[in-house]
Amino acid sequence: MPKPSLLEKYAQLAVHVGANVQEGQPVVIRSSTQSVELARLIAKVAYEAKAKRVTVQWTDDYVSRYSLDHMSVETLEDVPQWVVDRAHHEIEENTCLISITSPIPGLNQGVDPLKMQKAGQAMGKKLAFFQSYVMGNNTQWTIVAASNLIWAEKVFPELKGEEAVEALWDAIFKACRVNDTTDAVAAWAEHNKTLGAHNAILNQHQFKELHFTNSLGTDLIIELVENHVWAGGDETTTKGVKFNPNIPTEETFTMPYKWGTRGKVYATKPLNYQGNLIDGFWLEFKDGKVVDFDAKEAKDSLASLLDYDEGARYLGEIALISHDSPISNANILFYNTLFDENASCHMALGRAYPMNVKGGTSMSQEALTELGSNHSLTHVDFMFGSADLKVVGLTHDGQEVTIIEHGDFVI
Ligand code: ZN
Ligand code: ZN
Repeated sequence: MPKPSLLEKYAQLAVHVGANVQEGQPVVIRSSTQSVELARLIAKVAYEAKAKRVTVQWTDDYVSRYSLDHMSVETLEDVPQWVVDRAHHEIEENTCLISITSPIPGLNQGVDPLKMQKAGQAMGKKLAFFQSYVMGNNTQWTIVAASNLIWAEKVFPELKGEEAVEALWDAIFKACRVNDTTDAVAAWAEHNKTLGAHNAILNQHQFKELHFTNSLGTDLIIELVENHVWAGGDETTTKGVKFNPNIPTEETFTMPYKWGTRGKVYATKPLNYQGNLIDGFWLEFKDGKVVDFDAKEAKDSLASLLDYDEGARYLGEIALISHDSPISNANILFYNTLFDENASCHMALGRAYPMNVKGGTSMSQEALTELGSNHSLTHVDFMFGSADLKVVGLTHDGQEVTIIEHGDFVI
């Protein structure tokens, strides 16, 4: 197990910086049985922060796999009413959410992608109101991670057992600025300031479109919505509470104009989608839509992602990250988006974040769609940054500004 003092610091980070739990506020922790210890610790720290009630919603990835194998599609699609009621109750009580991810790579290998997709869609539809609520930053929410044996041995194939688990904890702590010598909460206040400054420069430029090129073959133009907002680091809920949705985070990101992406993009890291590893893939866009694609590994999973719903073929996010970042420099492939997306520029297929357009969090879905904000029940990030990536911004009055050169920010 990791050093107790570091795990405690990490739990503090989840509660005080991630969710920023307020006195008297209920907390829901979503955890798998892979991360019992961290979930317990977060619950304890949340109570110390005077949470009203802490509830842990446990899942077990193996049982989930058995369910996918054995339940009929009809049963999988039949989302119980109490799940919906519970979400309504959480909204009524202004509950904040802390999710702990502890993935088991490859666990869902061999499961019928269509079955997985149908189960996901049914849940997505029934809980669409809750997703809008959370993604509209109506409450604080955060995601942290916990090491587990299978994940750790995948990330560090040269290590075995407890040694691998330790090494992954170590990498997680480093990526999250958790160490023996510094105050992690204070370090994050500083980090949030730096990211905020980056957002401010990009917001001032209000680029019409961004042009991405590298030697791998990426040549892509992404148009941005008008009055887009670059965000990253901490965010503020509609009730005025600051929080950090992702720990770690290094990105500054905004909203593509739904119908304005054209060209080809090559992924630079594998994408772990529903337990399957999609690798060596590219996407071609026309008028914002993916019109062609290929993958060396798990092409059927990529197809299933693109066919998830109408919006899954359009972009909902574009994120810029220096190639020279702590996570990128560690040069570890985590096989997990929470970490890997912070090592590289990335974009997301699916739903856009309302906060990435001025006034977006108080707009209806119809109004957002009108502006060119993509709507979907899914949101899947993939990485395309590289050491030789160039990003040029084009302003509305025709000026070209180089934003990233040789992988790193130059503005
Ligand atoms: Zn992102
Ligand atoms: Zn994303």
